[in-house]
Amino acid sequence: MSTNPRILISGASIAGPTLAYWLVRQGFRPTVVEQAPELRAGGNGVDLRGAAVGIAESMGVLPALRDLATDIRALTFVDAEGRRVAGMPTSTFDEPGDIEVMRGDLARVLYDATAHDVDYRFGDTVDTIAQDGDTVQVSFAGGTSAEFDLVVGADGLHSRVRNLAVLSEAEAAHPLGIGFATATVDVSFGARREVTLHNTAGRVAGVYRSGNHRDAQAFFAFRTSREFDFPRDRESQIELLREQFATAGWEIPTLLDAATADPTFYLDAMTQIRMPTWSHGRVGLVGDAAYCATAFSGSGAALAIEGAHLLATALAESDGHTAAFARYEHAFRPIVRARQRSVGTGSAMLVPATNTRIWLRNQLTRLMVLPPLAARVFRADPPAAAPTDPLRRVTRR
Ligand SMILES: Cc1cc2nc3c(=O)[nH]c(=O)nc-3n(C[C@H](O)[C@H](O)[C@H](O)COP(=O)(O)OP(=O)(O)OC[C@H]3O[C@@H](n4cnc5c(N)ncnc54)[C@H](O)[C@@H]3O)c2cc1C
Repeated sequence: MSTNPRILISGASIAGPTLAYWLVRQGFRPTVVEQAPELRAGGNGVDLRGAAVGIAESMGVLPALRDLATDIRALTFVDAEGRRVAGMPTSTFDEPGDIEVMRGDLARVLYDATAHDVDYRFGDTVDTIAQDGDTVQVSFAGGTSAEFDLVVGADGLHSRVRNLAVLSEAEAAHPLGIGFATATVDVSFGARREVTLHNTAGRVAGVYRSGNHRDAQAFFAFRTSREFDFPRDRESQIELLREQFATAGWEIPTLLDAATADPTFYLDAMTQIRMPTWSHGRVGLVGDAAYCATAFSGSGAALAIEGAHLLATALAESDGHTAAFARYEHAFRPIVRARQRSVGTGSAMLVPATNTRIWLRNQLTRLMVLPPLAARVFRADPPAAAPTDPLRRVTRR
């Protein structure tokens, strides 16, 4: 029997179900509480590569993910009339074995792989956390309370667990000064098997349209000040997005109408989470809650999967939770740091701040200077160290 068997995980997206999967295999009894009433759909394509693919394979979910993989073959920049001005094939970034899946598909596959042996509680959230040396007392917004041995926050950028027990959002958050919105739209938008993007100074609107999916995904990003206070309610978010894209060309007016009518509409500040420590006592963090790198890193989902696997392995192999949290952080921080550092180039490439920079980006793309640089950005890993760490070993079923 594992020590600390009763583990509460907050958040059922990518990190939460992955952690639950590995904890069950190591003899723990995880419970997952998710604020949304059901598994959240939506999100653009996310990349799995390297260690994350190996972990997915060990979980037995690789065939399902390969079936759902997107078939995007190009990134195309268009002008206000929809004419191609520059572009690059996605093969520039991809290596054999990489997989790109829609975020919602990935969340569904991970949930399906765990639903039969993990206790999922949808539509509830942690309200208070009180820990003594031996246990954690948790009360839930739904009115119940329970005792756990450990609590792990896998509840994303605005993690409530982090706020309650580890560090306030004000101290952990490092905004990039960019807003990001996404929503599911009809496949009549964009071009088949392409990511189509239209830039104006400090803004990008785009459509992500895989050829083997029923829907397309619209996305928008816009530069703001780092101090800008993003609204959390849907109506104000829609108003903000409409203000930002009021004068734009291409398909933007109809794309905005479709995106803002979609129930999975999502808008948030692009914010990195950087913290001196990812745990406090019996409470730990994983995924975006601990180390969000943002969509511009191209590796949020992969980091969530790798971190969850490492944390579960550390909990199983260490002598107590304190040693386990320390071991997980020690092994994973260098990888996180490298990927967080890569976002500057990603944002400069996708959301150039001025018209001159848009022109320059297009020229560099045409001259084939940018594609290899982009490939390096999206594959950023620290020089060596981490891959040889024993914690990175993937346990096979
Ligand atoms: C709807 C949605 C769309 C996204 N779209 C994109 C995208 O287009 N591109 C991209 O790169 N990344 C996107 N992301 C973020 C991406 O999923 C993460 O960067 C990455 O996969 C890490 O996953 P995570 O599980 O750590 O966090 P997240 O994926 O952010 O998941 C956190 C989970 O915790 C839940 N949660 C939040 N607060 C609480 C609470 N108080 N109590 C209980 N549960 C809570 C959330 O509902 C969510 O299910 C999106 C996330 C969501 C939720």
